[in-house]
Amino acid sequence: MSLTDRIAQGLESGWNVTDSALLTQNLTAEADVVVIGTGAGGGTTAEILARSGLSVILVEEGRLYYQKDFKMDEQTSYANLYQEGMSRVTRDGAIAILQGRCVGGSTTVNWTSSFRTPAPTLNYWAEQFGLDELRPDAMAPWFDGREERHSMAPWQVDPNVNNDILRQGCEKLGYSWQIIPRNVKGCWNLGYCGVGCPTNAKQGALMTTIPGALDNNARLFHSLRADRLVMNEDKIDHLEASAFADDGVTPTGIKVTLKARHFVVAASAIGSPGLLLRSDIPDPHQRIGKRSFIHPVNATVAQMPQRVDPFYGAPQSIYSDEFNFRNGVDGPVVTNSRCHRCTRACPAASYPATAKPRSTTWPACPTCSPSSPCSGTASTPKAPAAQSPSATTAVRYWTTPSATTSGRASAKPSTPWPKSSSPPVPKKSA
Ligand SMILES: Cc1cc2nc3c(=O)[nH]c(=O)nc-3n(C[C@H](O)[C@H](O)[C@H](O)COP(=O)(O)OP(=O)(O)OC[C@H]3O[C@@H](n4cnc5c(N)ncnc54)[C@H](O)[C@@H]3O)c2cc1C
Repeated sequence: MSLTDRIAQGLESGWNVTDSALLTQNLTAEADVVVIGTGAGGGTTAEILARSGLSVILVEEGRLYYQKDFKMDEQTSYANLYQEGMSRVTRDGAIAILQGRCVGGSTTVNWTSSFRTPAPTLNYWAEQFGLDELRPDAMAPWFDGREERHSMAPWQVDPNVNNDILRQGCEKLGYSWQIIPRNVKGCWNLGYCGVGCPTNAKQGALMTTIPGALDNNARLFHSLRADRLVMNEDKIDHLEASAFADDGVTPTGIKVTLKARHFVVAASAIGSPGLLLRSDIPDPHQRIGKRSFIHPVNATVAQMPQRVDPFYGAPQSIYSDEFNFRNGVDGPVVTNSRCHRCTRACPAASYPATAKPRSTTWPACPTCSPSSPCSGTASTPKAPAAQSPSATTAVRYWTTPSATTSGRASAKPSTPWPKSSSPPVPKKSA
């Protein structure tokens, strides 16, 4: 365990942190850059800009929780650290969406698997969409820099039982398997990553980029929700924000106005488009809020001959990408996997991407008729190799990372940084 708590120490040393729950009157503040969200995207951006000498304000709707608050207790942690107390779901209730809502964002509660975007995916983006600057060799120094900053490395400790069963299964079936890289330093292998790391081992934004930004004179407002970006002619002029009480959810009625020359919206894949839509930001191509991607987390449940306590130990330490690229990067898309007649799980390769789940437009098995539902096994098409090989119970989903910037801004950080690819540097205001 890290006995010196980085956050407690920083607060004691005079970091500029405002708990908005304590504000008693409306406030206006100004900086070169206002960064909305303190997760993976916001933390990284804020640290880089603050290190380059720009004045930075960070805005976070969740609260600042740290080691003293991480008590390995699910009931309070889920309520405090997750969006909507971990009850965020899609409109139809079909998919639970896990997202962090605290300083450090989802990186404070995530499971520490730290992968590079796979080379075939980067190459596909380059070839299909002309994103040449994202090719693997161009990205390598950026990945190197982030891996160093967040202490990412393949997990050295033996996997816990359920991860080891995955490894054994792969070996039996002749599938490839690898060890997952994790962003941890001195991890105790407790398995409580999802409720805030009690030993400060997890090197998410809370232990790295947020302290890095605050050490470099950034100011953090927590318990403060970005409501609306306000335009003046063709530029964003200021941000309107509202304070929450120390329960994290009750508005206090206090309003904060933040002015800056640049605004970075890094409020997650759902929070960012939400803010931009509320703000009526010009959207000439009508893309804001139109497409979201979620990263499904499936649980495969089985009765095992031996005892398996999956909650102990690093939650994810073994992976297999055996099926990932069998059909190329853009293999068939499964939109749902149940026949609307027999309601059994069916391999869904032939289902159209437009099919709507849980309705009669949800496709039927080829052999299923209303009067005689099939057994779900008869002559259903063979599942494409790119899909999950088992019928599993979907229990958890999380969203993919996304940090949307309202104007690309960066500078020369002292952390490793690829010289050839420095984005434009905004000038410090006089
Ligand atoms: C339980 C869980 C496990 C995960 N495990 C992994 C894993 O093992 N490996 C992996 O690669 N990824 C994992 N992820 C996903 C990963 O953590 C996210 O993809 C990543 O953190 C997203 O970064 P972000 O900056 O876009 O958003 P976030 O990190 O979610 O940060 C967004 C921040 O913005 C704040 N915010 C939102 N709206 C507003 C507003 N209006 N005003 C002010 N603040 C606002 C939020 O409170 C939040 O703190 C996991 C996620 C979860 C929830």
